[in-house]
Amino acid sequence: MFIISEMRTLPLILLTALLTLGCGDDGASSAGECPTDPVPVVASIGPWGDVATAVGGDCVQVTTIVGGTGVDPHEYEPTASDLAQLNDAALVVLNGGHYDEWAVEGVETLDKKPVIIEAAELAGRSEDENPHLWYDPQVVRQVGDEITTALTELRPAARNSLKAAGAEWTAALDEFDALVAQTRAETAGVSFAATEPVFEYLADAIGLEDQTPSGWKNAVANETEPGPADVAAFESLLQGGSVSLLIDNPQTAGPITERLRSVATDAGVPVVEISESRSEDHDSFLQWQTAQLQAIASALTQ
Ligand SMILES: [Zn+2]
Repeated sequence: MFIISEMRTLPLILLTALLTLGCGDDGASSAGECPTDPVPVVASIGPWGDVATAVGGDCVQVTTIVGGTGVDPHEYEPTASDLAQLNDAALVVLNGGHYDEWAVEGVETLDKKPVIIEAAELAGRSEDENPHLWYDPQVVRQVGDEITTALTELRPAARNSLKAAGAEWTAALDEFDALVAQTRAETAGVSFAATEPVFEYLADAIGLEDQTPSGWKNAVANETEPGPADVAAFESLLQGGSVSLLIDNPQTAGPITERLRSVATDAGVPVVEISESRSEDHDSFLQWQTAQLQAIASALTQ
């Protein structure tokens, strides 16, 4: 018995050390093992699943329903198993603002309600505002703090582990805020247009000026197809030399946005892709967000 337990312990220590060394930007894995069983958390969409993973460390078991870049979350239709997953959660993190309406409605049908955090409601945003709230660093901070509070109430014995994971997350978020401020020094006042408003909050935070034709913006906001006049206005904007950047959302792409991309390229306007969700090329929420900010800065300095 003694020998077996010794053999088990040694590799575990090594493994823990390796995991700690290899921990990502969000620092979640160095909080140490959770003293209690992990909280089952379900997030409707990837960004909030990533935030829950970062702030919960070893004290959460996170399931994300709509993750990756292969689907357009705006168009997502839930399955029966998605709703079953909501039922198994002790904490559910939602976006709100009609972005994940299926999940907001789904939790309402549950007999035994989990703790629910809804980003739009928490941030006091109206249902009509831009719902891409994970692009607003202040809302990300609010949601992360609220998740820590909820987890601590669900697992009081894990208080110290959660405090450590939360502190690492906050420090990483502070670094990201510093990068936003640093980027703003280079990008403030630069005009851009976007095929979809995914990046609006962060664009605002780095001082970019949105010149997207209003007819196009209204059509996209209402999830309708922009008309020929809107497309023509967008094309002449790109050709007219008054915007320095086209932001394209590859997750909501179609033939018209493909065309706008080629018009931009022909006119010498750099195109930067900003997606709804984190692709597998990036390990964590903040690593993804950082890479996108850097892509914008480098497109503008070329
Ligand atoms: Zn979107």
